[in-house]
Amino acid sequence: MKTLLPNATIGMLGGGQLGRMFTLAARSMGYRVHVYTSKPNSPTAQVADFETVAAFDDIDAIEKFAQSVDVVTYEFENVPAAAVQMLEQTVPTHPSSKVLFTAQHRLREKTFLSENGFPVARFYAVSTAEDLEKGLQYTGAPAILKTAGFGYDGKGQAEVHDLKSASAAWDNLDKAEAILEEKVLFDSEVSLIASRNEAGQFAHFGLIKNDHRNHILHLSQAPANAPKELHQSAAEVVRELCGALEVVGVICVEFFRRGDELIINEIAPRPHNSGHLTIEACQTSQFEQQLRAVCGLPPGATDFLSPATMVNLLGDLWQNGEPHWEKVLLQSGLHLHLYGKGDARVGRKMGHITALGEDAKKLAEDVFSQLNGAD
Ligand code: AMP
Repeated sequence: MKTLLPNATIGMLGGGQLGRMFTLAARSMGYRVHVYTSKPNSPTAQVADFETVAAFDDIDAIEKFAQSVDVVTYEFENVPAAAVQMLEQTVPTHPSSKVLFTAQHRLREKTFLSENGFPVARFYAVSTAEDLEKGLQYTGAPAILKTAGFGYDGKGQAEVHDLKSASAAWDNLDKAEAILEEKVLFDSEVSLIASRNEAGQFAHFGLIKNDHRNHILHLSQAPANAPKELHQSAAEVVRELCGALEVVGVICVEFFRRGDELIINEIAPRPHNSGHLTIEACQTSQFEQQLRAVCGLPPGATDFLSPATMVNLLGDLWQNGEPHWEKVLLQSGLHLHLYGKGDARVGRKMGHITALGEDAKKLAEDVFSQLNGAD
């Protein structure tokens, strides 16, 4: 592959905050970004050089887009794999449609992982009432029932305790193709973000510890408090996974941690919310790493310059009006990111704050508790 240097144009599928932060990193290094989104005024388009607003099945628009860029990448995994398949016939597209096709469907993802010897919780494919009954016997109770496709942040999933609650939960999913998983009694959740280029050069940021609220990421801490060997063994699992899937780009693997055992929950073939803190905390951010990987450059150094904690700002914070930004901006060691989204709906990711330093967690939690516009 030819190495792409500044002035090259990167095509970005998807217009959310991940595309926005990628674009800011790429443009600061002299690259151009052309975003392809289905909605106007997206967080990415606000900062990109060029914008195409069209559906992902608009063949003419996809072809035109392919002609206008040097390489294509994406920022969310619900891009139809068919669009990526079409693009990769004309222009280098990373990660490949094969990676996307596997990662965007929980059943395909878990099947791939277990068939290739990666550690996952027991699971069972559900497409009939009989499967549900057999599945529950196999996983034991409690278990988690999830839609097989297009789910994220806990959407389309429910905890079930017996056949009655499992049937009710499946009715709630409109009896869509589903996956029943053993409920893992984990000590904590951790993620590892890595990048790999076409030459196979691999780099990672070590384990990051994640706390969720209502199935949505609330807070990430890095480096995660874990023995060096655990950081290394997680990285080895991800390196093997990247090799098996031939990933070119950035990948995030989310794990359940039980003692020193790591069980894969899911993979995302793109930068991840838990890696936002790399923007300030690391020599190279996860977004620059994505740029480097898809442009055929070697990965940047991933050392941490400081411990860091990231806290998400969801739309819920706006319920009493605009949050008290002065609480963040008048203190040093805190970094505010807002994504340019107009409509602050409950549960919607509107921005995040990264705190740096030995007391980063306390700093982030304290400021988060002062933001609510009520007082
Ligand atoms: P997901 O959308 O699959 O990433 O799930 C969102 C969150 O639900 C995870 O981060 C966990 O906190 C929880 N969860 C999902 N699957 C399981 C499982 N098999 N066992 C325990 N907790 C789970």
